[in-house]
Amino acid sequence: MLRLEPVPAFDDNYLWLAHDGTHAVAVDPGAAEPVAATLQRLNLRLCAILVTHHHDDHIGGVSALRAACDVAVYAPDDARIADATHRVRGGDVVDLARPSLRLNVIDLPGHTRSHIGYHGGGVLFCGDTLFSAGCGRLFEGTPAQMLASLDTLAALPPETAVCCAHEYTWSNCAYAATVEPDNARLAARIAEVRDLRDARRPSLPSTIAQERATNPFLRVDEPAVIAWGERHGVPARARVERFAALRRGKDQFRAPATW
Ligand code: ZN
Ligand code: FE
Repeated sequence: MLRLEPVPAFDDNYLWLAHDGTHAVAVDPGAAEPVAATLQRLNLRLCAILVTHHHDDHIGGVSALRAACDVAVYAPDDARIADATHRVRGGDVVDLARPSLRLNVIDLPGHTRSHIGYHGGGVLFCGDTLFSAGCGRLFEGTPAQMLASLDTLAALPPETAVCCAHEYTWSNCAYAATVEPDNARLAARIAEVRDLRDARRPSLPSTIAQERATNPFLRVDEPAVIAWGERHGVPARARVERFAALRRGKDQFRAPATW
């Protein structure tokens, strides 16, 4: 049975550990110390590292962990990521023995051009592509690329646990509520996130079903989001433009501390 452990780091990152009680795989270890401390606290042995993209808050701890544990490092084929032992791309399978976990690699261009995700065992590691109630910024990709990446993730099994790399859920929900003020599932999620964050607990993992019901970036074809687009000058048929307008709106949005 695979267990998930979000390791908080920096301001709002989660460095995920997936483990079987004995062996662990670390995803996007942006810093080595918090990962090492959690491995020690839970008495786990690190057996592999998975990397989704080249940003420093996702790879900063890779070389120190590798020096300490000499494990396989799976990463996209991008020269900006050093220390990889296995270069992987969409369609590849990462078959880990310990913990026992078979993951499909998915190409997710948009946040960066070489961003990938890992899906298997009922879990998705999506880096900075999909966030709960939001999505990553477009640093290197086009809106069409990011939307296609999010469409791919939306089509995963609804019960899939979504392990995002940042705790952005509260501000994402605040923005989502401006897009869909009448979405009852979103209102319920906001209440849940408020309780979780008040208790200093992570709002993650989410599920694909939860995101399909509440995340405006997965809901560009919903009537309420189409209507939002029309109010912002985007014709109903212009799906990519609507997504781009949603993302621009989020770039400019400042979430209230409470509401
Ligand atoms: Zn990033
Ligand atoms: Fe990040």
